[in-house]
Amino acid sequence: MTLMRAMQIERPGEPLRAIERAVPAPAAGEVLIRVSACGICRTDLHVADGEIPARYPVIPGHEVVGHIIEIGAGAGKFAVGDRVGVPWLGHTCGVCLFCRAHRENLCDRPEFTGCSRDGGYATHIVADAAYCFRIPDRFSDVEAAPLLCAGLIGWRALRLAGDGRRIGLYGFGAAAHILAQVGVGQGREVYAFTRRGDKESQDFARSLGCAWAGASEEKPPYSLDAALIFAPVGTLVPLALKAVRKGGRVVCAGIHMSDIPSFPYADLWGEREILSVANLTRDDGDSFLAVAAELGIRTTTTTFPLDRANEALAALRKGALNGAAVLVP
Ligand SMILES: [Zn+2]
Ligand SMILES: [Zn+2]
Repeated sequence: MTLMRAMQIERPGEPLRAIERAVPAPAAGEVLIRVSACGICRTDLHVADGEIPARYPVIPGHEVVGHIIEIGAGAGKFAVGDRVGVPWLGHTCGVCLFCRAHRENLCDRPEFTGCSRDGGYATHIVADAAYCFRIPDRFSDVEAAPLLCAGLIGWRALRLAGDGRRIGLYGFGAAAHILAQVGVGQGREVYAFTRRGDKESQDFARSLGCAWAGASEEKPPYSLDAALIFAPVGTLVPLALKAVRKGGRVVCAGIHMSDIPSFPYADLWGEREILSVANLTRDDGDSFLAVAAELGIRTTTTTFPLDRANEALAALRKGALNGAAVLVP
């Protein structure tokens, strides 16, 4: 029996625990992957803290890159040896109202990697082949990992934000550092909003081509066409709303956020909109990975060995990372 190693959340609120168990066999339609890198996403903190519905115990991690080592019956889309990425959307029902309307991100009976099915804080993972992506050759395993959620959900958020030229990014972490490059590559002006006094993140944002960087409480030099909020901080919503022009959009890209304080209706009036982004579709993944390769997106990463996952999560919680943290088993 071959053993795999993983870091598992036993119960919400507790540190992850190192476990060893038998490598699972892929069922029909599934592939077994040897993990070479797994990005750490803020959602992993929400799962660890019990802030979103999850199955426990669970192995977190939904920015998984690895090579296929075994194929289940009918998973013929891939071959042994192929390099693939496993994203947050692990499976959908295919028959609900949303699935049938090409909105599988809103499926009524979804499975999410690292939340309702085991994820990539591990040496091995079993995934539904239909939801895995091929990774463009230009990215290394570690570089590609943050593209699979930070990049991909950010891309969905940017698409929902519309074609406006002036885009604000609130919270300059893993997602924003990728989306800033996408926005600049598309010829937009990108405005980066960070915690007050976080000069390091503001310098980082400017180094990636942002036209302006400042504190979230500051008013940008021009009204924004749209704002994307990546930080899980509800007070940013009324701030972002004040920064967008008439008809502008505020897109909340996270899965969880602290409560949004009340604000004057006048700040919403003028056909401003607030909307949320939920999950991803496979089309988001295919289109984003193609765009990321074409624009030559560079991810900034800090790697941690698998057994130091708790340390990596603590660094993310403190905001002590530039770019994205990636676990390497
Ligand atoms: Zn469905
Ligand atoms: Zn994520």
